[in-house]
Amino acid sequence: MTSKGSRCRTYRYRIHPTKLQTQALLLQQRYQCELYNAALEERIGSWTWERRSVSYFDQCRTLKGLKDFRPEVVASGTVLCRGTLKRLDRAYGAYFRRVKRGETPGFPRFKPASRFDSLQWAEDSGWKLKPQHRRLYLKGIGEIKTNYYRPFKGEPKAITVKREGTRWWLSVHCVNVPAVPLDRTCSEIGIDLGVVNQIATSDGELKKGQHFGAKVQNQLTQAQRSLATKQRGSNRRRRQVDEVVRLHYKIKNQRRNAAHQLSRQLVNDYDLIALEDLRIANLVLAPKGKPDPEQPEAYLPNGVRKKAGLNRSIHDAGWGQFVSLLSYKAESAGRTVVSVNPRYTSQTCAECHHVDAGNRVSQEEFRCRRCGHCDYADINAARNILRAGRALQASACDGR
Ligand SMILES: [Zn+2]
Repeated sequence: MTSKGSRCRTYRYRIHPTKLQTQALLLQQRYQCELYNAALEERIGSWTWERRSVSYFDQCRTLKGLKDFRPEVVASGTVLCRGTLKRLDRAYGAYFRRVKRGETPGFPRFKPASRFDSLQWAEDSGWKLKPQHRRLYLKGIGEIKTNYYRPFKGEPKAITVKREGTRWWLSVHCVNVPAVPLDRTCSEIGIDLGVVNQIATSDGELKKGQHFGAKVQNQLTQAQRSLATKQRGSNRRRRQVDEVVRLHYKIKNQRRNAAHQLSRQLVNDYDLIALEDLRIANLVLAPKGKPDPEQPEAYLPNGVRKKAGLNRSIHDAGWGQFVSLLSYKAESAGRTVVSVNPRYTSQTCAECHHVDAGNRVSQEEFRCRRCGHCDYADINAARNILRAGRALQASACDGR
């Protein structure tokens, strides 16, 4: 397998700005937020009044004039400003892409300063990484201490500096990252994605992710309860807000960490990894039936259903992240990941391929009506997914 030159990766490091540097970063975020909103206003205005669309490049050209009447905004360099304009451009692009696909996305919105938490340098200037000194130099802000705990690979092309509560992070976007092909293992696996971080495999295993989240989730609930008792505008309330934010990010990081570990393990052990295609899985999600008039209590009230939808979206976000981590690791290692249509995978017998909705006795149990094959429902589904994945790969090889 040849390595492509365009392989990209993002490396994330914690950075420790001093008090002064933090103030400078926060100030710059305020200015960039202002720029973002002004640029959005320009785009909306010129379309509303002149039916003229403004491009990213049009807006970049106006940055020159900004130097004269708002020098503080361009103090960290025009590259940073271009990064902000690029961000708006991407938001626009994503919006119109989704409209084209027939979805109903929200139009790009004005951002409040409190929500504008990242700075992006879209090009290779205005900043410099000094790994040997564990420092990141930012124009107009200075040299920031960086927890450079592992070297990045490839060429750093762009960076993002992000605030998460009281912590700051640096993301280094690298291109031309060399591939690290792994030796073939001659094993293949099918995976049924269950609730977040629990998977069933065609090898007959039910793998649970680390028991992350539960403990921190409790802490978070307590912290939020305590926040509700604090007086508005008080110092104690402010500190408590920081604590709640910190716990939120902790859960997020734990989830990402678990996804990294699980995907790494799979890529190390298997040549072919077959999964259900999440996009199709969401389409085939059956609408809930009407309540039975004779047994009205058999159905849950609406609020619960709404919550199920919310959980569903958290669930999808979690798996979406897992699948993307798995994909890039697999690509680098020369492994194959195939997404299969999940239709009937839970109703089909993995032994005799008999399809029947009645095969699935309960949420957990599968019992084939034809051959009597018994298994955990998710493991049975995972075996079907592997079979479908092998078929897909075989047909892809024939087509070549
Ligand atoms: Zn069967």
